[in-house]
Amino acid sequence: MLTQSPKGTRDIFGREMPLWHSVEAKMRALCDNFGIEEIRTPVFEHTELFLRSVGDTTDIVQKEMYTFDDKASRSITLKPEGTAGVARAYIEHGLFNNAQPTKLYYIQPTFRYENTQAGRQRQFTQFGIEMFGSYSPALDAEVISVAAQLIDELGIKDIELRINSLGCPECRAKYNKALREFIGSNIDGLCRECRARYEKNPLRVLDCKEEGCKKIIAGAPSIIDCLGDECREHFEKLKEILDSMGIKYTVDPMIVRGLDYYTRTVFEFVTTSIGAQSTVCGGGRYDNLIEECGGPKTGAVGFGLGMERLMLTLEAQNGQYDEKPYRDIFVGSMGEEGFVKAQAVVFELRKAGIMAESDTVGRSVKAQMKYANKIGAAYSMVLGGDEIASGKAVLKNMDTGEAEEVMLEGIVDKMKYIIG
Ligand SMILES: [Zn+2]
Ligand SMILES: [Zn+2]
Repeated sequence: MLTQSPKGTRDIFGREMPLWHSVEAKMRALCDNFGIEEIRTPVFEHTELFLRSVGDTTDIVQKEMYTFDDKASRSITLKPEGTAGVARAYIEHGLFNNAQPTKLYYIQPTFRYENTQAGRQRQFTQFGIEMFGSYSPALDAEVISVAAQLIDELGIKDIELRINSLGCPECRAKYNKALREFIGSNIDGLCRECRARYEKNPLRVLDCKEEGCKKIIAGAPSIIDCLGDECREHFEKLKEILDSMGIKYTVDPMIVRGLDYYTRTVFEFVTTSIGAQSTVCGGGRYDNLIEECGGPKTGAVGFGLGMERLMLTLEAQNGQYDEKPYRDIFVGSMGEEGFVKAQAVVFELRKAGIMAESDTVGRSVKAQMKYANKIGAAYSMVLGGDEIASGKAVLKNMDTGEAEEVMLEGIVDKMKYIIG
């Protein structure tokens, strides 16, 4: 127990880290480019926020939240998704008073108590963006374009954008009625959960992963056919803008997303490269959420992307990311005097921006040189009594074996010159 991380969690370190760093750097640079600012919200929020926003008939709220009472008996929940916290912050800080739109992004831990499988953990990392303050389909297109550009820059292959419109609450009510009738007449073939939940929220049935349900659902009426004029125009305009941007998509009326707050546009980027079809990035418009949480009526769109699943996709497509170790110089030592001097020289080198290492373990000179090779040191030297007395040491190129005598006093300048 003590030496094993809790189920559904994992440590990210070592050879995985360079890929995480490079992907995160691309995300941050892209957001800068699109004028999207970072926001860091707390890891936990009041439970009520998620009941209101995510919706109490969703799987997330019913089964997957990490909810507990704190010492003052407040109900607290570790965030199961990113949008609600950002929406709360948008209202709390009156960001709607600024010139709109407000464009925010985050890279943060997220928590869901669910069965673990590849790329699905109980603590996972989500990259998300949220844009507030416009009902225009141009904002939907902008959000989608961020994801499309990221996917392009990461070089992900075999990925497809699917879009749908869930309409406004009026269209949805019309659709729910049609869907309820359809489900009612096919009720016998559905799983127990679907039979239980279809009265309350028939859309959830479209989300069901049971094979029997999936088959029946394939014949369900399409929400696109139930859209009123305004919602239809909104969807048509979005498609027109995506076309003009050169972003390819397919319309998929089965995409409903597992959250209650979506209105009109929903979308997913789907890939098949990590086995069964999986969603790398999903999002949509949520025009009622800010008002529902106590703010002014505000149009909003966003997406979330699971970093772990993205990493699996990248690894499946490109192979393991393998970065060779590298250090500019290893300053070895012989004897106590040399040992102390080496620490001082390495600190001087580091202050000058040179990647230097010394022996801090107490290895023999031979073992130190082996270690220098292991960490990919480009140069090495060994400091002992003679070197300290003469002020000179031998600088060795670890690749070619070439050696030259250098003044210890000038070692920082020498290394700066060599490294360029
Ligand atoms: Zn509508
Ligand atoms: Zn079902």
